[in-house]
Amino acid sequence: MKCLIIGSGPAGYTAAIYAARADMKPVMYQGLQPGGQLTITTEVENYPGYPKGTQGPEMMEDFKAQAERFGTDVRFGYASEVDFSKKPYRVVIDENKTVTADTVIIATGASAKWLGLESEQRLNGYGVSACAVCDGFFFRGQDVAIVGAGDTAAEEATYLAKLCKKVYMIVRRDEMRASKAMQHRVENTPNIEILWNTDTQEILGSKTVEGVRVKNNQTGEEKELKVTGFFVAIGHKPNSDIFKGWLDMDDTGYIKVKPGTSKTNVEGVFAAGDVADKIYRQAVTAAGTGCMAALDAERYLASQGIH
Ligand code: NDP
Repeated sequence: MKCLIIGSGPAGYTAAIYAARADMKPVMYQGLQPGGQLTITTEVENYPGYPKGTQGPEMMEDFKAQAERFGTDVRFGYASEVDFSKKPYRVVIDENKTVTADTVIIATGASAKWLGLESEQRLNGYGVSACAVCDGFFFRGQDVAIVGAGDTAAEEATYLAKLCKKVYMIVRRDEMRASKAMQHRVENTPNIEILWNTDTQEILGSKTVEGVRVKNNQTGEEKELKVTGFFVAIGHKPNSDIFKGWLDMDDTGYIKVKPGTSKTNVEGVFAAGDVADKIYRQAVTAAGTGCMAALDAERYLASQGIH
């Protein structure tokens, strides 16, 4: 194939729309979460062109329909291994099938990080969530806790405070990583209680969240917070593991691209969206870089005389 697109969020689909219209006959493998992170959100109000807002999953169906309309071959399956040592590049799908491609557009996105507690996994979707904006609504008028101290945690804590009766913010150090402006917003919200130097020991509840046991890591004191929702906001991890050793990355695994382009260190391999962006992480910026990747791929194919 001429153009392989890995991943099906806004970056992947936008790349597909441009590549298909440029007659590059793109093949897309959707990955483990077809549609990407937007499929686990609800209302999207900041994507231009939807003056009344739209639903994340619906928006991704629209992206898909538009990519297919121009002939993108959208397939189930995830990339499990790559070999960029020679052209055409080889990509293993679902650990058992190898495809080759002249150009590869990587749009594998990022995933939320978790604390790694057994109770967190067991109650995921039953009161445990990594997306306050998606799930805060279910806890209206209730008490909840959120762990994390970066800008995301601060933003989500203030968001939750508008819906919920009380928000406990669990911070593992004696200071926050969030910007000063965000910290002030948190500190000035009366129904947010910040628990400094505090670790989460266990999320309590058999079927749904009933509380959380926390421990002060300075004094050793433990206590239980009565909450029905537990939000995790401790950062994201780029889905770039299979490219390690092939592509240049920063120390947290975000793929490095040549500034102002989608070019990785391997010619003909491009990266777009959250897998290469730890700063903006928006649907619209992902779509923008997806467009760049398709245009960069088109120019690359032309430079190689591949038509
Ligand atoms: P960050 O990596 O900035 O912050 C993660 C936070 O989670 C840190 O406070 C960290 O604590 C804490 N943490 C990590 N692991 C654990 C753990 N196991 N237990 C408890 N706490 C833990 O991630 P964000 O998602 O907040 O932000 C990512 C990037 O996006 C940042 O650059 C941020 O500025 C940006 N952003 C900007 C926004 C805006 O400008 N409006 C909104 C949202 C994000 P510690 O500090 O101790 O390491």
